Amino acid sequence: MEKLYEDKRGCCGCGACEAACPRGAITMRADEEGFLYPAVDAGKCVDCGLCGRVCPLKHAEELKAEREPRCFAAIHKSEEVLMRSTSGGAFTAISDVILARGGAVCGVDFDEKLRAVHRVSDTAERRDRMRVSKYVQSDMRGIFRAVREECEKRPVMFSGTPCQCAALLSYLGGRPENLFVCDLICHSIPSPLVWEEYKKLLEAERGGKIAQVWFRSKRHPWGRANSNKGFAYRMEGSDEIFEDSRFYNLFIRERVIARPSCSACRFTDTRRVSDMTIADCFGIEKYAPEWNDARGVSLLLTNTAKGEAMLEAIAPAMRLVERPLAENTAEQQRLSRPVEFPENRAEFWEKFRREGLAEALKK
Ligand SMILES: Cc1cc2nc3c(=O)[nH]c(=O)nc-3n(C[C@H](O)[C@H](O)[C@H](O)COP(=O)(O)OP(=O)(O)OC[C@H]3O[C@@H](n4cnc5c(N)ncnc54)[C@H](O)[C@@H]3O)c2cc1C
Repeated sequence: MEKLYEDKRGCCGCGACEAACPRGAITMRADEEGFLYPAVDAGKCVDCGLCGRVCPLKHAEELKAEREPRCFAAIHKSEEVLMRSTSGGAFTAISDVILARGGAVCGVDFDEKLRAVHRVSDTAERRDRMRVSKYVQSDMRGIFRAVREECEKRPVMFSGTPCQCAALLSYLGGRPENLFVCDLICHSIPSPLVWEEYKKLLEAERGGKIAQVWFRSKRHPWGRANSNKGFAYRMEGSDEIFEDSRFYNLFIRERVIARPSCSACRFTDTRRVSDMTIADCFGIEKYAPEWNDARGVSLLLTNTAKGEAMLEAIAPAMRLVERPLAENTAEQQRLSRPVEFPENRAEFWEKFRREGLAEALKK
């Protein structure tokens, strides 16, 4: 039976192995931190080895672009799009091109319980729900097959973390002509279980149900300095907006709630797996202050010929300026190295397991 991973740092939880298994012998199950891992039913496994062949972490280098990217600062021309996006609205500009070509977009939405899930849609309305970063690992179950079927019919944009993009390409065994792959520069991916507990905590504190959340609302000017102020939420039956920085602090400042594999990420590289990478153009205020915009600035990396062609296609919708790669490698640690976990990560989880999130947060 194929050994899928040595230790937890060797599994990113994408589920490509589950989707590829011809015998249905693999099921993704959550561990005590709430992250999904494959469990193999030895009775069903016929040792075909397909699961290992589609694992993106085992084939990371083969999936990367051959060349370094070109970099661009980009700002969507629509005020409305800018204010409803995390950065400079690059995701909307790219997905608009795909929708205008009669295609479908696959990105991360919230389900009715505010859990992050990948979905496929061909309407602007559903695409709009995929806007904004949800800083929690999304559930990809069912997506690999759905994207493969869509690619047989029409253009498709897939957007996700670098490991999710690599997983899709690995599962497909190549790059279908119809597929446009767009990844993010990814700091690391937080636990869905902590996210669940956090929502419960906020609901208990406020009394009632959360109706809507924004991980990085634009109530504060865009920029690295304000990133931790952006988490906002609204309760059902009320228009009042509350802010809370505790989840974001656990994620970015304390670095205790990310998936173990993030600390050994194989995609923190300037050679990317996608056609285009989107991110925040942090640091633009230092290098080209005239391009700094409090409403948000995207960073675009064009990694392939398809990425270059997409840049031309979005040019009517976005203001664009080319910037040196070195500027961005200086600003974005995840273009060169994975997140480092603190020594007290295990202490946080111990407290979380024994006493719950509220107590773990006090520590
Ligand atoms: C977990 C995570 C970590 C990130 N870390 C960094 C970082 O270190 N540096 C940096 O510059 N940028 C980072 N980003 C990217 C940044 O937050 C914006 O998502 C990106 O700049 C796109 O902004 P936009 O204005 O173009 O589009 P938006 O309209 O904000 O689009 C958001 C895009 O992100 C996708 N997305 C949302 N949530 C998830 C998720 N949970 N998993 C996978 N894809 C998701 C959507 O499908 C959509 O394509 C991160 C994003 C995520 C989700």
